[in-house]
Amino acid sequence: MAETTTTAKTSSKGHVLVLPYPVQGHLNPMVQFAKRLVSKGVKVTIATTTYTASSISTPSVSLEPISDGHDFIPIGVPGVSIDAYSESFKLHGSQTLTRVISKFKSTDSPIDSLVYDSFLPWGLEVARSNSLSAAAFFTNNLTVCSVLRKFASGEFPLPADPASAPYLVRGLPALSYDELPSFVGRHSSSHAEHGRVLLNQFRNDEDADWLFVNGFEGLETQGCEVGESEAMKATLIGPMIPSAYLDGRIKDDKGYGSSLMKPLSEECMEWLDTKLSKSVVFVSFGSFGILFEKQLAEVAKALQESNFNFLWVIKEAHIAKLPEGFVEATKDRALLVSWCNQLEVLAHGSIGCFLTHCGWNSTLEGLSLGVPMVGVPQWSDQMNDAKFVEEVWRVGYRAKEEAGGGVVKSDEVVRCLKGVMEGESSVEIRESSKKWKDLAVKAMSEGGSSDRSINEFVESLGKKH
Ligand code: UDP
Repeated sequence: MAETTTTAKTSSKGHVLVLPYPVQGHLNPMVQFAKRLVSKGVKVTIATTTYTASSISTPSVSLEPISDGHDFIPIGVPGVSIDAYSESFKLHGSQTLTRVISKFKSTDSPIDSLVYDSFLPWGLEVARSNSLSAAAFFTNNLTVCSVLRKFASGEFPLPADPASAPYLVRGLPALSYDELPSFVGRHSSSHAEHGRVLLNQFRNDEDADWLFVNGFEGLETQGCEVGESEAMKATLIGPMIPSAYLDGRIKDDKGYGSSLMKPLSEECMEWLDTKLSKSVVFVSFGSFGILFEKQLAEVAKALQESNFNFLWVIKEAHIAKLPEGFVEATKDRALLVSWCNQLEVLAHGSIGCFLTHCGWNSTLEGLSLGVPMVGVPQWSDQMNDAKFVEEVWRVGYRAKEEAGGGVVKSDEVVRCLKGVMEGESSVEIRESSKKWKDLAVKAMSEGGSSDRSINEFVESLGKKH
């Protein structure tokens, strides 16, 4: 895709190096941020693992491969624990990132600033030892970051206590035990390594010059003004989704420009074109596609019983685990694909509901495109996001688990789907969805809150720190 920017200046306002964590849900917002900076006249280079570099196609941004110690293979190397991966990336990444910075030192565009993924806090040390300004980029929302920060500092004891009163960060909605990021709560012992990655984000964040969070003003704080806020003092720069879906100021910016898997775009669009307006449920559980086996069967049963058209992003391995007869029984109203261009699908007029795991990018995409949602969260921050979909933004429902079982039953999913797709509730939900979509567009448009924040960062480039 030939990409040009409408606002790019001929002389660069500075040079920013962007360091993402190499998984889809982190690459998307950080590559998008890179493109946003380019549109404001900044030169941007993305430093990422050799394997990931080949999946990024954004002509306006340069790429420099660095090493995580496992070149040419994706993250999640079998037999390598998350702790070992983190150590390896820190060691090899610091060295190779330093080489990239050095390479530009004697050119006419030396690096001014490093924007590093908060999952890679060693980025700050590399920035400091090379006299660069440093910005940590958090790919979770403000509430999740603020709560995790309190666990990291010990203010909230670890692991979280199921019997505790709701966990309150003043200025943000309170979270019950089951709405906390699961790696400090219900999955804290089964996924201790994941928890360490999350908490490690806060080991040095106070020393960074900027903390960026992929949200926008009022998204999580509206209606929560209770004196001085304890929310993390972050700069809200989102929603980091392609410009075509928001302000349209970056020409031809319709996709993130990073895809670790090949999307079946044509097949999806052709199929959706045959469907009536708002008649399709789009089902996607994120890039890992994690749906615990019992839950997979319940979701399938709900899709069969509810009788709506549906487009389901489902991995081959999961298709084999679907209930017997499901594919045959639903074939006249279903399309199953291994990967799609999710934004393109969400923007299609035939989509009436997004059945999602509520990963933060997916949730923000649903909100920004005005698509009502039903959340079936599985782990990590998804519980929190699903709560907000129903209770804070009122753009859909969180399907509730059966008591003590950890599984959302099919009749609960059907209830939620019907509430979003039909009747009076669907009208109210669509109105709220429209409101949040408008606010997302406003935040990113010229003079909007996120646009102003990004401008401030751009203005800071080149200043002494
Ligand atoms: N995505 C996509 N095609 C798919 C499924 C997902 O492009 O078929 C994208 C989606 O648009 C989102 C990202 O993958 O930007 C998933 O991130 P999210 O935070 O929602 O979930 P995660 O994968 O981190 O669990």
